[in-house]
Amino acid sequence: MPEPGYDVGELRALDRQHVWHPYGPMPGRQEPLVVESASGVRLRLAEEAHGRRELVDGMASWWSALHGYNHPALNAAAHAQLDRMSHVMFGGLTHEPAVRLSVKLVEITPEPLQHVFLSDSGSVSVEVAIKMCLQYWKSVGRPRKQRLLTWRGGYHGDTWQPMSVCDPDGGMHSLWSGRLPEQVFADAPPTGYDAEPDEAYVRHLRETVARHADEVAAVIVEPVVQNAGGMRFHSPAYLRVLREVCDEHDVLLVFDEIATGFGRTGTLFASEHAAVSPDVLCVGKAMTGGYLSMAATLCTTRVAEGISSGEVPVLAHGPTYMGNPLAASIACASIDLLLSQDWQGEVKRLETGMREGLGEFADAPGVKDVRVLGAIGVVQLDHEVDMAAATRAAIREGVWLRPFRDLVYTMPPYVTDDDDLARICRAVGAAAREG
Ligand code: PMP
Repeated sequence: MPEPGYDVGELRALDRQHVWHPYGPMPGRQEPLVVESASGVRLRLAEEAHGRRELVDGMASWWSALHGYNHPALNAAAHAQLDRMSHVMFGGLTHEPAVRLSVKLVEITPEPLQHVFLSDSGSVSVEVAIKMCLQYWKSVGRPRKQRLLTWRGGYHGDTWQPMSVCDPDGGMHSLWSGRLPEQVFADAPPTGYDAEPDEAYVRHLRETVARHADEVAAVIVEPVVQNAGGMRFHSPAYLRVLREVCDEHDVLLVFDEIATGFGRTGTLFASEHAAVSPDVLCVGKAMTGGYLSMAATLCTTRVAEGISSGEVPVLAHGPTYMGNPLAASIACASIDLLLSQDWQGEVKRLETGMREGLGEFADAPGVKDVRVLGAIGVVQLDHEVDMAAATRAAIREGVWLRPFRDLVYTMPPYVTDDDDLARICRAVGAAAREG
């Protein structure tokens, strides 16, 4: 059994024998690096890899670690809460961290969102959002409205209902096609944050929603940035179109801001780019600054009252670790920390740095597109990336990246300084060249 002071070789061998990793082959078929500790923007490896013992994290642990690792303010919040209580069931009980977090979320998200359901992962928060919408229409006497509508190219999580609204052609969930609930798909939005809205697409979007409105409970989309479906950016104008057409045809609108929330795109929430508010909002990932798994689904009073007016007047969901006080305390500290700083200035600084640093690769061989929005930088190749070669190239530059499909991309912690950002950009270039 590995203990502190463990033998790294033995740990790796045990990992290979028993441990399954995200989207990984069966244990033993891959060779993850062993991380010993993490501090600031750096991961410290237990042993050298390609000449490096320390890596600058260009991934912020999948959009989460905004403030870097081992942050004194978040550590203090965790320790203080641990001494009070690390968990207590939420059914019939409540506590200060969950109430404080819920109020904070209501305060910082668009105004009509007033009610908060705290859950334990992004995927589950999407499950909850979907249940809210389906249950709402059942409760208000329109039980036919039980399907979801989304645009292609999206990603909403790995559990059953969220998978049904992921890109059906994206490969990731094609394994389950035919088994998942059948949803309605519009075409993916044309790419380009600054691109003029495409009139033909706007018509298509309007017509698709209008045609299916009788059976559609809600439209669900990732606003402005489609994340795991291809790191695609689109014009905020399409969100305004969705809001209008949903209002015209009695369809709820759900924004999945699990990746984009908490400042990543340059506004606190990506919906602000369009000045549009959804009926239901999912947030997660960065909410706890990357410390613990927690997510939230917010909804309007209309949705909450609709559900409560039904035959089953309760929201039919209740995970065991709902409202976990430890996670909620850290989330409060993380949000306070974010808002106490010039976070917008920091994200702008990263955006400017990436535009410069990644822009250099725009004409490099094999590069199809370079795009940057807020603290998100993407180099898209004209071929499928060789993940192992690209990862190795980044590690040689002293950076942790996780290229996939035809993409080498970064979403660094906001506390990444200019030197480390330049290093990340160099590593993206190297990964794109060698991958
Ligand atoms: N929605 C979006 C937009 C995401 O990016 C993700 C995670 N990549 C999820 C949902 C699922 O969140 P989680 O991994 O925490 O379940």
